[in-house]
Amino acid sequence: AEGPPLEIAGLVKRFRGGFLAVDDVGFTAQRGQVVGLLGENGAGKTTTLRMVAGLLRPDAGTVRAFGAPLGPGSPALERIGCFIEGPGFLPHLSGRRNLELYWAATGRPRRDARFDEALAVADLGGAIRKPVRGYSQGMRQRLAIAQAMLGLPDLLILDEPTNGLDPPQITALRGVLQRYAAAGRTVVVSSHLLGEVERTCSHVVVMSHGRVVAAGPVEAIAGEATELVLTVTDVPAAVAAV
Ligand code: ATP
Repeated sequence: AEGPPLEIAGLVKRFRGGFLAVDDVGFTAQRGQVVGLLGENGAGKTTTLRMVAGLLRPDAGTVRAFGAPLGPGSPALERIGCFIEGPGFLPHLSGRRNLELYWAATGRPRRDARFDEALAVADLGGAIRKPVRGYSQGMRQRLAIAQAMLGLPDLLILDEPTNGLDPPQITALRGVLQRYAAAGRTVVVSSHLLGEVERTCSHVVVMSHGRVVAAGPVEAIAGEATELVLTVTDVPAAVAAV
């Protein structure tokens, strides 16, 4: 059997001025898991995922995918789909055309069920044939998620995918991600909302101030994470919500 879809160890990123945004971060995502990267704004989730995706060079640490080191030219890259930074869609082209161009750029066959299945996730109805410049933030967000899923990659990485989605769309995305992992694939998804992670994920990695402060199956971590999140984030808002 091959190694885990994602295995991170000792990841470090120090920004100019010496600020340690990611400090010795490690975790593993296994087949069939939806792993939630949970943490307050600034905890280092995006920086971690950018290093995993090769958008940012780590100062130290290793990223392995499917048992082999991940880097430029790794064959494993073809099995990974990412939505970390908003893709720059061509505004005058339709959502469908944008995704077709992206698909063609990856050198895959013109007609493929894996294209249509991923496209359906965007759930844009007739708007899929209209120019992206008329899309709302939520519509662009769904198109970006669908783009990351084109080809149905074995490992799907999404940074805060629920931004700009309304509650029914968040519920729909939750079902999509859970079914995706249940089919034997793997999802890594970041969020700053504990409730969202509890409802969506099978496993949780809690980050705070650049470090992993807790990790494990969602049942084991939920109570602990509540305390951790409440101590490290915006406590007045949390209290007001009670
Ligand atoms: P958010 O939900 O706000 O994206 P996050 O957990 O993803 O939060 P990061 O975006 O990884 O956090 O940011 C971690 C810290 O690193 C923040 O304090 C941020 O200001 C800082 N940071 C991120 N990118 C850079 C950069 N390019 N240069 C300097 N500092 C950065």
